[in-house]
Amino acid sequence: MAWDFSTDPGFEEQLEWMRAFVRAEIWPIEAIQHDIGQADLERIYAPLQRQVRERGLWAAHLPPELGGQGFGQVQLGLMNEILGSSIFAPNAFGCQAPDSGNSEILALAGTDKQKERWLHPLLDGELKSAFSMTEPETPGSDPTQLRTRAVRQPDGGYVLRGHKWFTSNGSIADFLIVMAVTDPDARPHERASMFIVPVDAPGVNLVRDVPNMEHPYPHYGMLGGHTEIVYDDVRLGPDALLGSEGEGFLIAQHRLVPGRIHHCMRWLGVARRAFDMLCERAVYRPVRGGLLRDKQTVQNWIADSAAQMQAARLMTLHAAWKIDRYGSSAARTDVSLIKVFGAQVLHDVVDRALQAHGGLGYSTDMPLEMLYRYARHARFVDGADEVHRESIARQILRAYDAPEDGVPTEYVPRRRAVAERKFADVLAITGADA
Ligand SMILES: Cc1cc2nc3c(=O)[nH]c(=O)nc-3n(C[C@H](O)[C@H](O)[C@H](O)COP(=O)(O)OP(=O)(O)OC[C@H]3O[C@@H](n4cnc5c(N)ncnc54)[C@H](O)[C@@H]3O)c2cc1C
Repeated sequence: MAWDFSTDPGFEEQLEWMRAFVRAEIWPIEAIQHDIGQADLERIYAPLQRQVRERGLWAAHLPPELGGQGFGQVQLGLMNEILGSSIFAPNAFGCQAPDSGNSEILALAGTDKQKERWLHPLLDGELKSAFSMTEPETPGSDPTQLRTRAVRQPDGGYVLRGHKWFTSNGSIADFLIVMAVTDPDARPHERASMFIVPVDAPGVNLVRDVPNMEHPYPHYGMLGGHTEIVYDDVRLGPDALLGSEGEGFLIAQHRLVPGRIHHCMRWLGVARRAFDMLCERAVYRPVRGGLLRDKQTVQNWIADSAAQMQAARLMTLHAAWKIDRYGSSAARTDVSLIKVFGAQVLHDVVDRALQAHGGLGYSTDMPLEMLYRYARHARFVDGADEVHRESIARQILRAYDAPEDGVPTEYVPRRRAVAERKFADVLAITGADA
């Protein structure tokens, strides 16, 4: 029997340190986030990042040979659960999206030269990156329809032309990993390739950070901005191509599975924070006939949230374990399951906590309205839930065949006829007794 839900004591000690550190050093940043710029934020981060490195917890998502700590997905899951409690935490630990996913791409598909130029400074926190795939004019849910083109030139380089948006951290990035069509006539999943594009290359026009539910008012050049970018005949050398031409989707697939589960892990931390607020509110808020905790609806919210969070946590850690043991392809369906389920749990728990706080929950005097806005995007980023459900069902149904004669396997009259033959002796005696 190899099932084991315990955490190694040495690692638990690290997690304990992380819990205290994130709460004492990172949560306070949230309260002043609108008063500071990116440069101030970097100044706050610098000593925190040093402490994280000294503790041996920096860039935990990559194996040691690639400059990371190589904790594997299960340990990373336990860490990300803590880091998820604040949007500012992953950056202090060198494992923030999209840099974490991009470093995996570079590790996987980069040449030695590309790794030296981009991956190692990225892991050292000297560079920032963004991933630029979604376009306003085509469905992000079906990237085989991408229109951004990279046209090969006689010298082996490329000219990049297209329009992207929601490139997270694009306005603070040093380089972008851009998905562009290199062969429109190839099979759909072989049309696109990935390119490393320095953000200061002529023709890269950062139009704006798109105001959205999470950041409703225009702001530019801050961590967490989602940038609209026009690539206007950007000239790239042959060394900009990642992997081979046509391998864009293949590489993306390797990046997306771990990237997706890292989000799910962090959502557990967000949900836990909202749950703690829900429970605290329940034990002090007097309403007619008692405290909120005396009301069955609130008791149901607490019990249902606890059950959902436990289920999401176990599903996430199980999917993480499967990636560690069998690789990310083997865990694709598990990760889709937890992506859909985890997004719903996140939304439900935050929604209940906000409801329990009434007007206070809706106000910016509590972080709940911010968590609520954050939670909403989980249902369609990293693949819309509908697309994941479609793919889950397709995978599951592969194990099933239609009955040859169109009669369901469990059809009772037929099973009864078979059982009557199988148990003919018993039925004969029972019949005689009757
Ligand atoms: C906060 C945030 C950060 C993001 N960061 C990045 C980033 O860093 N890089 C990047 O490239 N992109 C990023 N995105 C974009 C994101 O990946 C896309 O929004 C997402 O893939 C959905 O694509 P779309 O917006 O074009 O919606 P569409 O593809 O137009 O889909 C719209 C809706 O249609 C429905 N739908 C789609 N397909 C199906 C189907 N097969 N069956 C049933 N219903 C369906 C779903 O309800 C879906 O929500 C980010 C988005 C957000 C909100």
